[in-house]
Amino acid sequence: MSQYALADAMDGHAHHRSLWLREALGDDPEAPALTGPASADVCIVGGGFTGLWTAYWLKQWDPACDVVVLERDICGGGASGRNGGFVLSWWAKFPSLEKLVGASDAVALCSQSAAAVDEIRAFADQHAIDAQFRPGGWLWTARTPSQVGAWDDTVRACERHAPGAFLPLEPADVARRTGSRRHLAGVLDPTGATVQPAELVRGLRRVCLELGVRIHEHTHVERFSRTSSPIRVHTSAGDVAAQKLIIATNAWAAGIRELHRRLVVVSSDIVATAAIPERLAEMGWTGGECITDSQLMVDYYRTTRDGRIVFGKGGWGIALGGWIPRSFDRSPRRARGVAEDLHHAYPRIADVAIEHDWCGPIDRSKDGLPLLGDLGGRANILYGVGWSGNGVGPSLLGGKLLASKALGRDDASVPLPLWNRRSGTFPPDPIRYAGAHVVREGVRRKELAELRGRRPNPVYVGLSRLVPAGLEDH
Ligand SMILES: Cc1cc2nc3c(=O)[nH]c(=O)nc-3n(C[C@H](O)[C@H](O)[C@H](O)COP(=O)(O)OP(=O)(O)OC[C@H]3O[C@@H](n4cnc5c(N)ncnc54)[C@H](O)[C@@H]3O)c2cc1C
Repeated sequence: MSQYALADAMDGHAHHRSLWLREALGDDPEAPALTGPASADVCIVGGGFTGLWTAYWLKQWDPACDVVVLERDICGGGASGRNGGFVLSWWAKFPSLEKLVGASDAVALCSQSAAAVDEIRAFADQHAIDAQFRPGGWLWTARTPSQVGAWDDTVRACERHAPGAFLPLEPADVARRTGSRRHLAGVLDPTGATVQPAELVRGLRRVCLELGVRIHEHTHVERFSRTSSPIRVHTSAGDVAAQKLIIATNAWAAGIRELHRRLVVVSSDIVATAAIPERLAEMGWTGGECITDSQLMVDYYRTTRDGRIVFGKGGWGIALGGWIPRSFDRSPRRARGVAEDLHHAYPRIADVAIEHDWCGPIDRSKDGLPLLGDLGGRANILYGVGWSGNGVGPSLLGGKLLASKALGRDDASVPLPLWNRRSGTFPPDPIRYAGAHVVREGVRRKELAELRGRRPNPVYVGLSRLVPAGLEDH
C-alpha cells in the first residue's frame, strides 16, 4: 500500500475564530469524531464549501449514495468560515479561461459561475439559511494612478465575446458608490454579491446532515492509500474504506505530492471595524457593493448587515508546502498593515475601532483558476482545490463536477472543461518558499510606495512581474 501523510500543523491548539464564525456558531452539537473502522461509497476529506457542496450534490443526484465527510476542525473552520464573503463569477478570469479552453467554453464557464451566484441565493432561501445574501455587484477599482485601467484587457476580451459582463463607470460614480474619493476609477461586475460566509457554510452543513451525509468533525485524516481498492483513509482514531475518495482540503492539499507544485499557499488577512451604519450612510457606501483595488496584494472590502467594514488583504504570509502555521489563524502584525490599507482607502474612518481580526490560507494555483481532477490518473481519488481566493461562488460548481465524476454521471451544469486541465507549476519547496518571500517583499514595497504617492524602485517593479495571476486577470 503506498501511502502519503497529509500535512497538518494545527491540531491541539484553540482556534482563533473569525467574526463570521463567532456570529454563526450557535448551539448545534458538534458532529462526533470518527472512532474505529467505517465504510462509505464516497469519503470526502474537508468540510468547507468544496467538500460540503460535493456531498450535497452526491445526495441530490443519488440519495442512496453513502457519503462520509471527515473534517479535522469543525465544518467551516477553514477558509469557508473566514473569508471576505465575496460571491464572484469568473468573468474577471475570462482571458485566462479563453487561453485555456477557447472563447466559447470560456463564456460558458463564466456564465455558469454567474448562475452559481444566483443558485447560492436560491439555496439559502430554500433552506432558511440566514446567509445575508446581498446582490450589490462587485466594483473592481483603482486607488493609485498606476492601477487605473488594470481591467482594460479583461473588459475588452469580455466585450468581444460576452458584451455587458462589465459595466464601465465614471470616476465620480466610483467615488460616490465606494464612499471614498481615494477610488480613482473602476468597473462593475453586476453579478457579484456578498454573504455572511460562516452562516452559509454552517447552513450547508445542516442541509447535508438532513440529507443523510455522515459528518465527523475533529477527525484528522493522516494518510490514505493510493493503490488499494477500496481506498483506505486513516484518521487519528479510525479509518474509512471507501470506493471513492475526494480531497477538498484547500491549502492543506499542498502537502500532497501530486499537488505540491501546482499550489502555493499564501495568507489572506482581514480586519473588521465597529458597526458604523450612520457613518456609512454619510459616506454614501450603502449599495452593498463589494470592492477590490488592483494591487497584486489585493485589498478587498465590503460592508456587513450591521454596518461594519470588513477589509482584507491577500498574499502577505507565505506557507511552506501544506504546513500551515498558526500565524495563518491570526497575525496581529499583518492585521496592523491591513488596517493601514483600510485607512488609505477610507481616511475618514481612521478614528473607528478595529474590533476583530483574523486570517486564513489561500490555495493559489499558477493561473488563479481551480484545479479539479483525478489524482495521478486514479479514477477513484478526486480533488478540488486551488480556488485562489475566489471559491465562495465557484466551489458550488466544483462540488457539482466532483459529484458528477464520482457518480460517473454526465450533467450539463458542471464545468467539465476544467476537469484534469493543464496547469503551470511552481518550483518545489524550499526553493519556492525562499523565492516567494523575495518576490512578495518586492511587491509589498512597490505597492506601498505607490499608495504613498512615490515612484517605486525598479527592482521591486521587476520582482512584481514574477507574481502568478490572482483572482483577476490584469
Ligand atoms: C481570509 C480569506 C478571505 C477570502 N475571501 C474570499 C472571498 O471574499 N470570496 C471568495 O470567493 N473566496 C475567498 N476566499 C477563499 C475561499 O474562502 C475558499 O476558496 C472557499 O471557502 C473554498 O473552500 P474549501 O472548501 O476549498 O476550503 P476550506 O473551507 O478551507 O475547507 C477545507 C477543509 O479541509 C480541512 N482539512 C484540511 N486538512 C485536513 C485533513 N488532513 N483531515 C481532515 N480535514 C482536513 C480543513 O480544516 C478545512 O476545514 C478567502 C479565503 C480566506 C482564507
